[in-house]
Amino acid sequence: MPYFSYKNGILHAENVALNAIAQQFGSPTYVYSKAALTANFSAYADACRQHSLAPDSSLICYSVKSNSSLAVLQLLNRLGSGFDIVSGGELLRVIAAGGDPRKVIFSGVGKSREEMRLALSHDILCFNIESIPELHRLNEVAAAMGKHAAISLRVNPNVDAKTHPYISTGLKENKFGVAYEDALACYRTAAALPNITVAGIDCHIGSQLLDDAPLLEALDKLIELVDQLAAEGIHLHHLDIGGGIGITYDDEKPVAIGDYLGRLFARITAWRQEKYQGAPIKVLFEPGRSIAGNAGILLTEIQYLKHSEAKNFAIVDAAMNDLMRPAMYEAWHGVQTVARRSSAEQVYDVVGPVCESGDWLARSRSLAIEAGDLLALMSAGAYGMTMSSNYNTRGRAAEVMVDGGQAHLIRQRENPADLFALENLLA
Ligand SMILES: *Cc1c(COP(=O)(O)O)cnc(C)c1O
Repeated sequence: MPYFSYKNGILHAENVALNAIAQQFGSPTYVYSKAALTANFSAYADACRQHSLAPDSSLICYSVKSNSSLAVLQLLNRLGSGFDIVSGGELLRVIAAGGDPRKVIFSGVGKSREEMRLALSHDILCFNIESIPELHRLNEVAAAMGKHAAISLRVNPNVDAKTHPYISTGLKENKFGVAYEDALACYRTAAALPNITVAGIDCHIGSQLLDDAPLLEALDKLIELVDQLAAEGIHLHHLDIGGGIGITYDDEKPVAIGDYLGRLFARITAWRQEKYQGAPIKVLFEPGRSIAGNAGILLTEIQYLKHSEAKNFAIVDAAMNDLMRPAMYEAWHGVQTVARRSSAEQVYDVVGPVCESGDWLARSRSLAIEAGDLLALMSAGAYGMTMSSNYNTRGRAAEVMVDGGQAHLIRQRENPADLFALENLLA
């Protein structure tokens, strides 16, 4: 990760020393690299430019839930990104960041009427529909507004999970999408609804996929459906393969984005030439983790070292409320000392102050540290801040975006008083 590297023994984000960030903004603080976000987005954008059938025949819809900070959305919008949202709140964030609602797609199994109205009033690009009742509700809401809603069906391609244990959303038994076998009937229903416009097809089979084989398998299944629909006179304008490409947390070796997109577009190009005289179909992507994950770290200060017979603990000022992934998924994040010490390493569990045994951030790490030292929890740019909470009445961390030699505060640290400002005492 060249965006977070040691210079003169001090860990930097781009050209800014992390100890300088802690001194100026305190800790815990999420620190993002603008160059890393840009490079990760560009890996998608460049491959789309290189391989897609026509200019404007692809759209990268960054998955807002992975990191929804306004400054992150603003940057990605300036780079040309669209957005994949899963709530009305995320749509308002995109708009507040200057994003174009007409490049927004709306995913999620539980869209409320109010969220549908909000999205329709902003003329979003497409609703990714996950059930028949949702389709009928959207038709009703659109009719009441005198509008037409563009939809895509989220199809569950049921790709084999046995060889790919990380796939967790593309299987028959989970709550997402409509079953592959039911998709044709759903499209017929959708095509007959007066205020629904059938626009596309989508899937999202899971997250942290290291290999693109299951994605290409899912693509083949979507292609089959597109052909069957075309034979019935239902012509789709876009195909959305979802997100899901993994990142390196430890020693994982995810497929390179350019290689994956090269294979995907080769398959699509061959198919369009064979069946549709080369007429392009718009291709959408919904990447989250692969754009934001390795573009951020969580900076934290060691409060105490605690040595017991069984274990050594480094008690830090970040906790499970700041970075939930270890407690929730037993996720592994690298731990780096901000200033290197030459003293002997010992094995530590890095834990937070929250009153839960599940409040750990990293286990069994060899570290040369003392109380007061700063640590960086690596690869924390995605599903870090967005999953944070106020458990234990802990204000959420500050967020800083580094751009070359400049550090910009993009979100202030929450004050305890902010946390109960919306509460009322009894009369
Ligand atoms: C979370 C999510 C994504 C992003 O997944 P990543 O693994 O972060 O790329 C894309 N699409 C949908 C529908 C999602 O729920």
